[in-house]
Amino acid sequence: MRRSVFVHVSVSLILCLLAALRIQAEAVPDAEPISTYDDGAALIDVFFSDLKQGRVGLVRLIDANLADGQILVFGATYPTFVIDDARYAFVSVPMEQAIRTYEAQAQFIYEDGDEKTVSFPLEVSSGGFIQQSVDIPGIDESILNPEIEANELGSIFDIASQITEDVLWDENGFNLGVNREFTSPFGAVRLFNGTYNTLHTGWDYQASTGESTHSIASGRVVFAGHLPIRGNYVLIDHGRGIYSGYAHMSVVFVTQGQQIYAGQRLGRVGSTGRSSSAHAHIEMIAHGNWVDVADFLMMYRDNGPTSD
Ligand SMILES: [Zn+2]
Repeated sequence: MRRSVFVHVSVSLILCLLAALRIQAEAVPDAEPISTYDDGAALIDVFFSDLKQGRVGLVRLIDANLADGQILVFGATYPTFVIDDARYAFVSVPMEQAIRTYEAQAQFIYEDGDEKTVSFPLEVSSGGFIQQSVDIPGIDESILNPEIEANELGSIFDIASQITEDVLWDENGFNLGVNREFTSPFGAVRLFNGTYNTLHTGWDYQASTGESTHSIASGRVVFAGHLPIRGNYVLIDHGRGIYSGYAHMSVVFVTQGQQIYAGQRLGRVGSTGRSSSAHAHIEMIAHGNWVDVADFLMMYRDNGPTSD
């Protein structure tokens, strides 16, 4: 039996937290590590207790004379970037990653060519993804076509598979820039018109047609154009495998290749693509995985990341 309820998830807690983001602006979250692992002078600082599916966590590597470093887990490699003399990695968990504790490896690579690998536990917990039924009467059936959706995702991930070596975000960090109620959560499994199941790759928040959409951080536009499902869409590369996307806009003001400053106006809110009414949809990719943009933004709060 089909539930024809469009679940309205009122996440006022997250709203309040996002409002607080503007106070604290840092290139990396100003946080205390939850756990520290060491092997002699080599230190691994882990800024989360566990990571939910579809979330991002921060890890820091510290030692003298480090030339590079990376984290290996889930069969993937997460490179580090340097901010304020420390090496950091954003580790992203695929939404479908099995729930258990993994052995992650931190590779320390030294200026003299030496390498050291230190293992540490990384617990993956449930993403708590909900089910939603969405009814859009009279919808263009072509945008419920799995092939069209797969093509669209394929073209986005083709772009987002490029890892820009430089960190393109700045000391303003990442923040939403508006104080709005989120209405539909990341990771929801959506049943469209009772027939088509798909995954919600970002968060929706309430906004009216014509309002401005702003970039959550500085970066470079790598896509600006129309897509069947996302409608008028902008994808921004923030460097180091971090991307943010903005969908359903009525008009786009930026062009591919353009440098973007934090908070820059990208376009206006609309209802283009697969959308039932005007709203803003924002999403993030970190190292090839869709990740919870609200959770990512919360890392930039003054007490840093949480996994709750
Ligand atoms: Zn959405």
